[in-house]
Amino acid sequence: MKTAGMRKVTTKKTVPAAKRRKATAARKPAASRRTGRGRRKESPEELKRRARRIAALLRKKYPGAGSALRAENPFQLLVATVLSAQCTDKRVNMVTESLFKKYRSPEDFARARRSVLEREIRPTGFFRAKAKSIVELSQDIVQRFGGAVPDNLDDLVSLRGVGRKTANVVLAGFFRKPAIAVDTHVKRVSARLGLTRHTDPVKIEYDLMDILPKREWQPFSFVVILHGREVCKARKPRCEACIIEKYCPSSLLAKR
Ligand code: SF4
Repeated sequence: MKTAGMRKVTTKKTVPAAKRRKATAARKPAASRRTGRGRRKESPEELKRRARRIAALLRKKYPGAGSALRAENPFQLLVATVLSAQCTDKRVNMVTESLFKKYRSPEDFARARRSVLEREIRPTGFFRAKAKSIVELSQDIVQRFGGAVPDNLDDLVSLRGVGRKTANVVLAGFFRKPAIAVDTHVKRVSARLGLTRHTDPVKIEYDLMDILPKREWQPFSFVVILHGREVCKARKPRCEACIIEKYCPSSLLAKR
């Protein structure tokens, strides 16, 4: 029952601050998100400048960074990269140490018995699919490219079982061509740095190619992967030890 003069009591629904910030950030495109210390918006030109500084600092910290997969030629790197899906580089290197002694060329892998190869690569996981890819891509290389791994993206992704990420690892990692491979570390770190607002690896690759000068493409994935492994870890980023902290809108230090 209402009483004259009685004030209406409303219960204000409170949303946690962190949730509000997350919702606001999600609505904004990467180029206009607030940067660094959250003081002002960032223009596309400023985003490019910030990306260049990040790339330069990481390149300085990890000079000559490359793939951690052991390979003596582009074909070995291709096979090792296929094996590295959902597996650590360390484990792949353990498996390929003996594998590459037995199978020395694309012809050897093209002739491999699938069931035997499956057993040999089993420790890397998903061994049936990986064995199928390795045999089929080897057959393609032998039949269509005379046994030589192609050094361009279109031909590489035309090989059975070879996706864009694998192709870019080979292009940047062995042929030293301008290419950006987007793996889980590149995806996570680029998002935290506000360099992309996408989650699809191909769209992330295009975003990064758009904001970075071409000369930075080749080393970028490798330095970011090292940074992601050592500093910007998935569960607990070590922002206090991060050399690009002042360029990062996700720094935990800024919230203190
Ligand atoms: S400041 Fe923190 S979140 Fe940003 S890149 Fe560095 S470690 Fe990652």
